[in-house]
Amino acid sequence: MYKISDEIRRIYEALEIPLFMMTVDNGEVTSVLYSDGFLKFQGVSRESLESVYEGNIEGSLFERVHPEETAKLKRVTDDFLFGIEDEYDVIFRAKIGDEYRFIHAVGFRQNIYAECKASVIVYSDMKKHEEVVTQITERYRFFGDDDFYIDKLTDLPNINYFHQFGMEKTKDIVAAGKTPVIMYYDVDSMQSYNNQYGLKAGDNLLILIANILSEEFPEGMIVRGADDHFIVLTAMESKTALGIQICEINNRIKTEAYGNTTGIHAGVCEYKEGYGIIDGLDRAKLANKFLGEDLNTCFRFFEYTDIDEFISERYIVENFRKAIRSGWIKIYYQCFLRLETGNGAGFEALSRWVDPDKGVLSPAQFIPVLEKYHLIHEMDLYMFEKVCSEIKPRYDANLPILPVSINFSRQDFDHIDVPTQLNRIIERYKIGRYNIDKSYFIIEITEQDMAVGTERFFDQLARLRESGFGLWIDDFGSGYSSLNVFSRFDVDLIKFDMDLLKNLDDHNGANREIIKAMVGVAKKLGVHTLCEGMETEEQKQFLIEAGCELAQGYLYHKPEPLDTIFYRLGLGIPIPSWETEEERKNFEDKW
Ligand code: C2E
Ligand code: MG
Ligand code: MG
Repeated sequence: MYKISDEIRRIYEALEIPLFMMTVDNGEVTSVLYSDGFLKFQGVSRESLESVYEGNIEGSLFERVHPEETAKLKRVTDDFLFGIEDEYDVIFRAKIGDEYRFIHAVGFRQNIYAECKASVIVYSDMKKHEEVVTQITERYRFFGDDDFYIDKLTDLPNINYFHQFGMEKTKDIVAAGKTPVIMYYDVDSMQSYNNQYGLKAGDNLLILIANILSEEFPEGMIVRGADDHFIVLTAMESKTALGIQICEINNRIKTEAYGNTTGIHAGVCEYKEGYGIIDGLDRAKLANKFLGEDLNTCFRFFEYTDIDEFISERYIVENFRKAIRSGWIKIYYQCFLRLETGNGAGFEALSRWVDPDKGVLSPAQFIPVLEKYHLIHEMDLYMFEKVCSEIKPRYDANLPILPVSINFSRQDFDHIDVPTQLNRIIERYKIGRYNIDKSYFIIEITEQDMAVGTERFFDQLARLRESGFGLWIDDFGSGYSSLNVFSRFDVDLIKFDMDLLKNLDDHNGANREIIKAMVGVAKKLGVHTLCEGMETEEQKQFLIEAGCELAQGYLYHKPEPLDTIFYRLGLGIPIPSWETEEERKNFEDKW
């Protein structure tokens, strides 16, 4: 049996280096120990250890890990401790005291005696990085520095290097009487470049960008961040000159790249006394984010007003669970109509965060944040459950119980088993009482998510189909067109993205032809069609001519909560007219 002996335990527990050690036998944890240094690092005493950790290894550290990194860290740590991976070398942010600090953790296997191999993980606070690294290197000699600081693809320094030496470089620039500036570069549509030209060409594009940046900023620190991100720390002459230079870089990339690329965009932050290097980088990232999808300009300087937005991102993460508990998350229902009859045929459930202080927040403000912090599955399950709980009031008010579609993110399928959870919720609400079945619940998945789904994702979709849920493809034609969604998967309906309808007459009416042709293809395959964003009579006429079955848009109905719908019913003004159960069945049968 793998177990740490008392003698070894005494030696390791007395170590000043923050480390913990664990033995695993047949997938079962057999023993765990923490050094004094580890406990000090965590701020807990050995006496309180049991109650703090309850046998859950480094439970308390995990709780303090930055939400963006918890999932990744949990996965790599488990992989290492349970023997799936032999290497463990990660940097993550965790709260120490009141601030997030970068922690570097390195793991190795130690033969503590012949038949017992333990996994050891050593932590260091990057603030005291050098000091600890020398300590550890002397003791264990496992720390290869080159790999740690260099990106293998581009040979540029990596983010570890930036964390370690960025501040020094900044100080040097200031000492030379110049203004330091941090640029955060992001490659536009890297994913579609990879899809179109292959991964090798994608790698070459990154190498090309690395070379161009190194040439353009000979005095700068050029760093390859994660994925397609680059960071440049250098001295700035003037904002205007730097702006022109970034545009030139963008042009060089576009002309020198092997394939067609839309280039790069950069967020730029001027360094101010008192900033940390990470603050500067965060601000450059933020500026880049606000540049958004706008391809007319390739750079943006950070502005202080950006911070308000940043706070709202934090606000969302920190208050999300409270928002759910307090009922601030509401469903707005948007009715869609059957073009042939002009009657309502169902609803889409759209989330709104009705905040007591900040007013109504739209999904564009919180969905991306919840996705970024891996909380979106909690939102989507909550929405689904709320749709179930609102069936009774709809039924009691004698509203026809038309189908409701609910949006799901691809990420949901990584975090939970969606079919299991939905079936469980449905059982709880006993929907049979209202004479409906699971086909009244429609799962919407965007075409983009379908295009990059994993096996786990498609397996869950297949099981959702088997158990009777509807499945619709959302935002079809929004730039990810992968016609193979038809051949790959059995779906009930495709929803055309509203951008198609908005720009009907661009490029000699290309979108008109696309919608018409796609409606034709869908019909042949027995897939229903709906078009989003119908705002004008003219668009409505076009959709009728094109043979599209259903339409959703402000012309017909704007999203509103159930209360408002009831209120209007009370006044005798129903939202448009609704189709009856019989009508619905008729149309279903027609296909
Ligand atoms: P979507 O699923 O494509 O939803 C349609 C969006 O278009 C909604 O925006 C709707 O209010 C808006 N819309 C409808 N008709 C018109 C129109 O005639 N003109 C214009 N300009 N817009 C129209 P909303 O509610 O802001 O939602 C935006 C997106 O956020 C949704 O796009 C969906 O992808 C996502 N979303 C909303 N609620 C949830 C949710 O609970 N979970 C997840 N994962 N995503 C959600
Ligand atoms: Mg949708
Ligand atoms: Mg849509």
